Amino acid sequence: MSEDQVSKKFVYDFTEGNKDLKDLLGGKGANLAEMTNLGLPVPPGFTITTEACKVYLETGAEPVALCDEVSAHLEALERQMGKRLGQPDNPLLVSVRSGAKFSMPGMMDTVLNIGLSDASVAGLAAQAGNERFAWDSYRRLIQMFGKTVLGVDGELFEEALDEAKRAKNTPNDLDLDAGDLERLVDHFKEIVAKQTGHEFPQEPREQMDLAVRAVFDSWNTDRAKLYRRQERIPGDLGTAVNICSMVFGNLGADSGTGVAFTRDPASGHQGVYGDYLQNAQGEDVVAGIRNTVPLADLEQLDKSSYDQLMQIMSTLETHYKDLCDIEFTIERGKLWMLQTRVGKRTAAAAFRIATQLVDQGLIDEAEALQRVNGAQLAQLMFPRFEEHAKSQRIGWGIAASPGAAVGKAVFDSYTAVKWSRSGEKVILIRRETNPDDLNGMIAAEGILTSRGGKTSHAAVVARGMGKTCVCGAEELEVDTKRRRMTVPGGAVIEEGDVVSIDGSSGKVYVGEVPVVPSPVVEYFEGRMHAGADDADELVQAVHRMMAYADRVRRLRVRANADNAEDASRARRFGAQGIGLCRTEHMFLGERRELVERLILADTDAERDEALSALLPLQKADFIELLEAMDGLPVTVRLLDPPLHEFLPDITELSVRVALAESRKDSNENDLRLLQAVHRLHEQNPMLGLRGVRLGLVIPGLFAMQVRAIAEAAAHRRNVKGDPRPEIMIPLVGTVQELEIVRDEAEKVIAEVQAATGTDLKITLGTMIELPRAAITAGQIAEAAEFFSFGTNDLTQTVWGFSRDDVEASFFTAYLEKGIFGVSPFETIDREGVGALVRSASEAGRATRPGLKLGVCGEHGGDPESVHFFHEVGLDYVSCSPFRIPVARLEAGRAAAGKRSSDSR
Ligand code: ADP
Ligand code: MG
Ligand code: MG
Repeated sequence: MSEDQVSKKFVYDFTEGNKDLKDLLGGKGANLAEMTNLGLPVPPGFTITTEACKVYLETGAEPVALCDEVSAHLEALERQMGKRLGQPDNPLLVSVRSGAKFSMPGMMDTVLNIGLSDASVAGLAAQAGNERFAWDSYRRLIQMFGKTVLGVDGELFEEALDEAKRAKNTPNDLDLDAGDLERLVDHFKEIVAKQTGHEFPQEPREQMDLAVRAVFDSWNTDRAKLYRRQERIPGDLGTAVNICSMVFGNLGADSGTGVAFTRDPASGHQGVYGDYLQNAQGEDVVAGIRNTVPLADLEQLDKSSYDQLMQIMSTLETHYKDLCDIEFTIERGKLWMLQTRVGKRTAAAAFRIATQLVDQGLIDEAEALQRVNGAQLAQLMFPRFEEHAKSQRIGWGIAASPGAAVGKAVFDSYTAVKWSRSGEKVILIRRETNPDDLNGMIAAEGILTSRGGKTSHAAVVARGMGKTCVCGAEELEVDTKRRRMTVPGGAVIEEGDVVSIDGSSGKVYVGEVPVVPSPVVEYFEGRMHAGADDADELVQAVHRMMAYADRVRRLRVRANADNAEDASRARRFGAQGIGLCRTEHMFLGERRELVERLILADTDAERDEALSALLPLQKADFIELLEAMDGLPVTVRLLDPPLHEFLPDITELSVRVALAESRKDSNENDLRLLQAVHRLHEQNPMLGLRGVRLGLVIPGLFAMQVRAIAEAAAHRRNVKGDPRPEIMIPLVGTVQELEIVRDEAEKVIAEVQAATGTDLKITLGTMIELPRAAITAGQIAEAAEFFSFGTNDLTQTVWGFSRDDVEASFFTAYLEKGIFGVSPFETIDREGVGALVRSASEAGRATRPGLKLGVCGEHGGDPESVHFFHEVGLDYVSCSPFRIPVARLEAGRAAAGKRSSDSR
C-alpha cells in the first residue's frame, strides 16, 4: 500500500463537499453537496472520490482503505435514516450513481434500488403499504443491475416486460399489478441466471460494491472514450460514485419524477421549462418511455411541491448565477432534489443568457465572457434555411439543437457512418436515440427523432456536439426495420431520400431547402445593425459580447487575405490588418504563363523580361490590397511554394509529349517544360526548393516582389493613402539567409524611395516555421523587425509529419489510441510546437525588445490556440476572415480570465 493511499480520504458525506470540488467529487457529487449545504431537500448520501477510481483503474483493485470508509459512511447513513441496508422488515435502499468532473450524457451508468432482495421486498411493501411498488422497484433493480453491472443484454429484459404487457393486453406498464410484477421479477432472475451462470446477488452490500466497481469500469467503455475524445476531456480524470438514499416517485399518483431548466436552454428566456411524469422512477422521463406532461401542469397536480420547486429554482439561479438544469422526484407530496448542474444550452442561448445575467447584475462583463466561447459563435455563423422557401413541410418537432441540415435519410447509425464515409451527407432518423447511436450522430449532418423532448438523449447529446437536431416529431412514423418513415397524409420517405431539418424551428421538410446566411453574419457584414429596433435579440447579445471582448483583449486580430475582397470583408469583421498575404495566388490564372517563362528562362535577359512583365501586375494587386487595408498593417509574404506547383502535372505533360512524338509533331515548348518539370521534381517538395531558398537561387525574383510592394506603397502615398506594408520572408532557417535577402530588399526600397520622393517605412521580418529558426531566434531577430510564427509548417517540421499524407493515413488511429486528443494541426501542440513558439518569442525579444510577434496559419483562428498565444504574449494572431470574430472573442476571453476549455 502506498503512502498516498493511506493518507487520502476516499469518501465524503454530502455535507462535507461543495461545488468547487468537481475534480475530486465529480460534477454530480459536488453539486449534491452544494445543494445539501444550501439547505435544499437532498436525500442523504455520500460520494466516493475520483481518486479512489484512479487507484482502481491503475491497479485493478479498489484502494485498501475504501471498504472500511464506505462501511463507516454507510453506518452513519443507516443511523440517520433509521433503517439498514438489507434489513428485511425495513430496508434502506440506495442508488449508485456515477458522476465525473464533466457531465457525459448517457455515458456512465446508474443503478437504482440497491439493497432490495427476495428477503426485503416484502418489508419494503409493508413499509410503503404498497405491494405493487415494491415489486416494481425490485424488477427495476434486477433490470438495471443486470444490464449495467452484469452486462446482460438489456433487450432481453425489455422483451420480457413487453411480453408481460402483451399478456395483460396493455401498452402501459402502470397496468401491471403486483402479481404481474412479481412474476416478472422471477422471469428477470431467470434471465440473469441463464445469461451469467450465477443467481442475482441477494447480499445488499455485495450489490453495492459490484455496482461501484461497474461505475469505475464504465469510465473506460468505448462509448465513454469516444465522447471524451470528441469533447477533448482528458482520459485520466476518473469518475466519482455517489451513494444516495432512495426516494420514490413510483409510489402512486401523488408521486412522480421530473426534469427542469431554470431558463429555456434554446432561447435563454426565463420561464417554466421541463417535463414531469407521474408515478414514475428515475430514468423514465429521459427515456421517453411514457408521455410526460409539461412542468407547468404540475401546478395543478401538486401545488405545494410546484411552488417549492419554483422557489428552489430561483435560489439555484441566484446561487450559481447561471442557467441550471435539475432532476427532482416527488414522493407522496414531498419534493426531493436529485441533481443540479449548470445546464447545457444552445449557442444562441449562451449569448443571450450571458447578457441577461449582466443586466440582472448577477455577473460582470469579464464573467460574461466566460459563459460563451468561440465554437458557439462559429456555430451561430452557420447559414439558416430560407424562410419563404416553397418547401413541403412534413413534420414539426421540438427545436432541440439549432442549425440547418440537409441530407439523405438513413435509419440506423451503421448506414449513417458508412454513407458519410463515402462522402454523402446524411440525416440520421430514429424513433429515439441511445448511446449506441453516438457514432451515427457524429457522422450525420443532423438528427431527427419522432419521440422524446428537449431532455431526451438525442437532444442533449446533439446540443453538446453542436449538431442540428429536431426531436419528438410525433406525426412522423419511423420504421427503422423497413428503413422508412411515413408522413402525415401517408407519403413515405425511403432511405436515401433527401430531407431538410431546421434545428432552430423544429420544422422538417422533404427535399433540399435553400439556405440563407445567419443574422450574425449579416450583422458582422454591416447589413444589420444591433441598434436597430427590430434587430433580433441574438444579434444584440453578440454585439455586446464582442464589445466586451474588444475592450479587454490584448491580442490584436489580423486576417489572412490575398485580395481586396477578402481584405474588405476581414475589415468589416474587425480585422486590424493583414497578417498573411500569400503572393503565390497572384501567380496563377493567366499569369501562369509568365511564371512558366520565368522558370524556363535560359538567359538573364529572358528571365528579366518575364519578371518585368510580372511587376506591374503584382503592383496593381498590392495597390488594391493596401487601399482596402488603408491605415492598417499588411504583411506580404514573398513567394513561398515549390516552383513545380506552377508547372503542369508531370504525368499529364509526359503523356502529351509522348503522344506528340508518336505523331511526329513535337511541340518545342512542351519539351522544354517537361525537362523543367523533371529538373524541378522533388522527393519532398515541402522540404525542397521553396521559400527564401527561391529568392536566393532565382536572381531578381524577390527584388521584383519587393519593388512591386514599394511602388504600390509609394502610389498610395501619392494619392494621400496611409499604406503600411510589411515584407515577410518565408522558410528561413538561419540568419544568413535573411541577411542576404534583407540587403537586397533594402536596396530596392531605397531606390523606389529616391525615385518617388517618399519615405516608405516598410518593415522587414521573417516567418518562424522551421525548428532551426525557432532555436536560433535570438540571432535571427538581429535581422528581423518582426516574427510571424507559421505554425502549420512548424507543426509539420517539429513532428516530422507531412500533413496531407498523415491526416488521411494514420491520424484516426492516433486519435483512437489517444496519442493526441485533437490533431496538432487543429489545436497547437502546447508541449512541443508551443514550447518552441514560447522560447523563440523570448529569445527574439531578448535580442530586440520591441520585436513584433504574430502567428499566421490555421491555429490563429482556433479557440484553444488563441488562448495559448495570449499566454505567450504575442502581439497578434492572423486567421481567415470568417474566423476573425471567433479570434476576437477568444482573445477577449483569454484576457478576461480562464482557459477556453473551462467553459464546457
Ligand atoms: P444520469 O447521470 O444518467 O442523469 P443519475 O445518477 O442522475 O444518472 O440517475 C438516473 C436517474 O435516476 C435520474 O433520473 C435520477 O433522478 C434518478 N435517481 C438517482 N438517484 C436516485 C435516488 N436516490 N432516488 C430516486 N431517484 C434517483
Ligand atoms: Mg443515465
Ligand atoms: Mg441525472
